[in-house]
Amino acid sequence: MDISQIMQTDAQCYMNTFGKRTPIAFTHGTGACLFDTRGKKYTDFLAGIAVNCLGYGDKRLADAISRQASELLHCSNIFYIEQQALLAQKLFDLSGGYKAFFCNSGAEANEGAFKLARKYFYKRGENRYEIISAKNSFHGRTLATVAATGQEKYQKPYSPLPEGFINVEFNSREAIMGAVTDRTAAIIVETIQGEGGVLPCSAEYLQFLRELCDQEGILLIIDEVQTGIFRTGCAFSFEKYCIKPDIFTLAKGLGGGVPIGAVMALPDIADAFEPGDHGTTFGGNPLACAAANYVLSTLTSDGFIKRIEHASALLLSLLGGLKEKYAVIKDVRGAGLLIGVELDPAINGKAFVSSALDKGFIINCAGHNTIRLAPPFVIADEDIYGLTGCMDEILSGLTA
Ligand SMILES: *Cc1c(COP(=O)(O)O)cnc(C)c1O
Repeated sequence: MDISQIMQTDAQCYMNTFGKRTPIAFTHGTGACLFDTRGKKYTDFLAGIAVNCLGYGDKRLADAISRQASELLHCSNIFYIEQQALLAQKLFDLSGGYKAFFCNSGAEANEGAFKLARKYFYKRGENRYEIISAKNSFHGRTLATVAATGQEKYQKPYSPLPEGFINVEFNSREAIMGAVTDRTAAIIVETIQGEGGVLPCSAEYLQFLRELCDQEGILLIIDEVQTGIFRTGCAFSFEKYCIKPDIFTLAKGLGGGVPIGAVMALPDIADAFEPGDHGTTFGGNPLACAAANYVLSTLTSDGFIKRIEHASALLLSLLGGLKEKYAVIKDVRGAGLLIGVELDPAINGKAFVSSALDKGFIINCAGHNTIRLAPPFVIADEDIYGLTGCMDEILSGLTA
């Protein structure tokens, strides 16, 4: 189909949840490059929103998936699954001892984390069930994760939302202290609010949350769905803060493009789930786990982290140069290859994104008029020079 046929069919047959999408359909890619139905080439600085960490056309990832597909695609969790056990072991080793439960998405991982936190206190006979989250956060689109997502626009049409969710000001000690009660079960937080505009949690705040949770006997959940799997340069972003959450969640990058999510918990908390408490049909299936096993082996192989660090440093330094040059760049922030470039409110972020697209660069505008860059980890230096050159051109046109 050509793009206009795809658009017509979509308009007729697909629910209009994504509104007027960008009028492009990609057919294939290689490395950090994508090609659309017209044959136009793009350099991708979004990676399907922090998903395609190994880029496109990775032959060995495709081989791992196709080998597994030809042997065993799905198997009920009634049985033992080798790829699942291997993946759990990899994550156990990488995280320093967290047990895993696999599901299919970020929202589902967070749902699992909420259920685990509630079950933990239920089992102890404590009436703690409230989950505190931050305003401007993003935790998913199911009813409970929408209740945790502190953004009114996502919540309003769906009331009544599940009870026991409280949204407080991000990075504010006073706000969180005012919200913790003897009914609080857990606090969930992103180390960097990705959808919210690449807004980092301050180190002091996160360390304070850890202390507060210890003091009050409540659980700290870190949503690593976007920041995990080396996106910020280390396996899990909380490592940078020298704290350990009780529970953390993964999804986006974990399968390199194959859907898989995970709830990770310290063993004594994980053990609150007893047989029958939680489950899934597809979660942890052989196909998704084979993909994730390949992704993790690759990312933990020699030199890969150096590659991410190098790309990150180059991108940050070139963006820093642009910030010096253009006052309309208000801030450059983030970590690893999750970087935000906040534009002055006078600049139309969406128009900026479409100008970049015309010039062959895929970027995205998140909250706070912030350009979000989350390229595949295989991004090359010349692509980074290409993007910053393109941004320079657009900005000089806008401010001329
Ligand atoms: C994307 C995202 C989610 C939701 O993941 P889905 O796979 O879309 O359900 C949850 N939390 C964070 C931080 C995310 O970035």
